Amino acid sequence: MADPKGFLKTTERELPPRRPVSVRLMDWKEVYEQGDAAVLKRQAGRCMDCGVPFCHQGCPLGNLIPEWNDLVWRDEGRQAIERLHSTNNFPEFTGRLCPAPCESSCVLSINQPAVTIKQVEVSIIDQAFASGWVQPQPPGRLTGKTVAVVGSGPAGLAAAQQLTRAGHTVAVFERDDRIGGLLRYGIPDFKMEKKHLELRLAQMTAEGTRFRAGVNIGVDITWDALRTRYDAVVIATGALVPRDLPIPGRDLPGVHFAMEYLVQQNRAGAGDTVEAQIDAAGKHVVVLGGGDTGADCIGTAHRQLAASVTNLAIGRQPGEDRPDHQPWPMSPTLFEVSSAHEEGGTRQFLASTVEFLANEVGEVRAIRVAETEYMDGRRVPRAGSEREIPADLVLLALGFTGPESQELSHQLGLPFDERGAVGRDGDYQTSHEGIFVAGDAGRGQSLIVWAIAEGRAAAAAVDRFLEGDTQLPSPVTPTARPFSL
Ligand SMILES: Cc1cc2nc3c(=O)[nH]c(=O)nc-3n(C[C@H](O)[C@H](O)[C@H](O)COP(=O)(O)OP(=O)(O)OC[C@H]3O[C@@H](n4cnc5c(N)ncnc54)[C@H](O)[C@@H]3O)c2cc1C
Ligand code: SF4
Repeated sequence: MADPKGFLKTTERELPPRRPVSVRLMDWKEVYEQGDAAVLKRQAGRCMDCGVPFCHQGCPLGNLIPEWNDLVWRDEGRQAIERLHSTNNFPEFTGRLCPAPCESSCVLSINQPAVTIKQVEVSIIDQAFASGWVQPQPPGRLTGKTVAVVGSGPAGLAAAQQLTRAGHTVAVFERDDRIGGLLRYGIPDFKMEKKHLELRLAQMTAEGTRFRAGVNIGVDITWDALRTRYDAVVIATGALVPRDLPIPGRDLPGVHFAMEYLVQQNRAGAGDTVEAQIDAAGKHVVVLGGGDTGADCIGTAHRQLAASVTNLAIGRQPGEDRPDHQPWPMSPTLFEVSSAHEEGGTRQFLASTVEFLANEVGEVRAIRVAETEYMDGRRVPRAGSEREIPADLVLLALGFTGPESQELSHQLGLPFDERGAVGRDGDYQTSHEGIFVAGDAGRGQSLIVWAIAEGRAAAAAVDRFLEGDTQLPSPVTPTARPFSL
């Protein structure tokens, strides 16, 4: 155990400061400043090394949280990264981006603020990279078996790293021009700078994973041809079909899906020239949708110097405290103030958009919004409550309906489940022998931590399929949902 009296001596949560809003809005760098080692140690020392560590169950990866809290408290950074890497291939992603269901489950959070688990995690991996402790781990021998992983988001990368280390020859196919999935194109640089992705990709390349960017499977190579060429295939293509809002005025210039907007900014940040980039500068921006994607649009619009940013959500504003029906150790739905929300703009709840309105040259100039009314469990616009909000740029961040299905069903005849995700059995295998599915493609739009957990588990299933047995860990099964989500 870390400090036996740590949780009694330090009762407050302490995180590194965020850079001042006025400063961080002038660049695209991450929001948090470098943490203080003494503070981190004190926070790790608050961990009680619980007999039943509920944080394990809260984490889809089953991260060995009390063990690395203890090691950080003892200044054993090298051992801490070994324990962390034993369950998580990419703590630099989760340590920055995860909503941390482990912290909602932390026993300390029953009557004190939770241990700053996510901060401890990111500090361990940052120290490890800085100290040269993250080295390639190439396999001792090759099996002679080949695996194609399609999609290079966290699920595909986790599956590829596990399978490469198990001795298989793995190629990752990605239709974008760069590797990384939503970590590269979608998540803004101010949440995670892309240098962290590059460091990990360098390690994977040195281990022997082959990356093939700019190859659209189903178009450039058919899915059945890919299956013929490789001994196994992992579908990790994400769930990238955006939910639309088919109301009058939807086709007006100035109304865009959030992903069109976010990806263009990622490209600009990478130094690409983006023709006719959607730019919020000087515009009244309205973001529809109250989730992560909406928050990312808000932060991006502020950095592009929007005249105003309004965020609308159709539902009720969640409470600031745990509701009674979501007691500890569940992950509660709370009113979240992310770093992007801190930076300005207004948030309105119970707002149902009914129409996009055009100016004299046919571009969007405003949206008509009504108050949301709940009728028989459905959310409908309340008659007579309509008002206008000025808008020169509207961003639709309304979630995703599932993976693209056309080629997969035409070329392989794969069935899709009732949520629109690729159907699979309890071992991540689709109805087509030797073709597996992991991450958002198989579970619907979710979280990075789940994508990594599924990538690891699908790799174990593929290894077993190819070799008859496996030593690879399998943190989650497709049907297993944690109590907290
Ligand atoms: C804007 C945004 C912000 C988010 N922020 C967070 C966050 O802060 N924290 C968090 O935990 N989660 C966040 N999420 C969710 C998280 O990013 C996803 O759950 C996660 O990336 C899913 O990983 P994946 O590997 O399954 O798929 P993805 O990351 O979606 O990667 C799939 C990849 O497959 C490629 N592909 C698709 N079809 C083909 C094909 N036919 N051939 C070749 N390649 C193909 C795609 O181009 C893509 O690169 C966010 C999501 C969005 C959209
Ligand atoms: S639940 Fe919290 S206090 Fe208990 S072991 Fe996990 S991190 Fe430590």
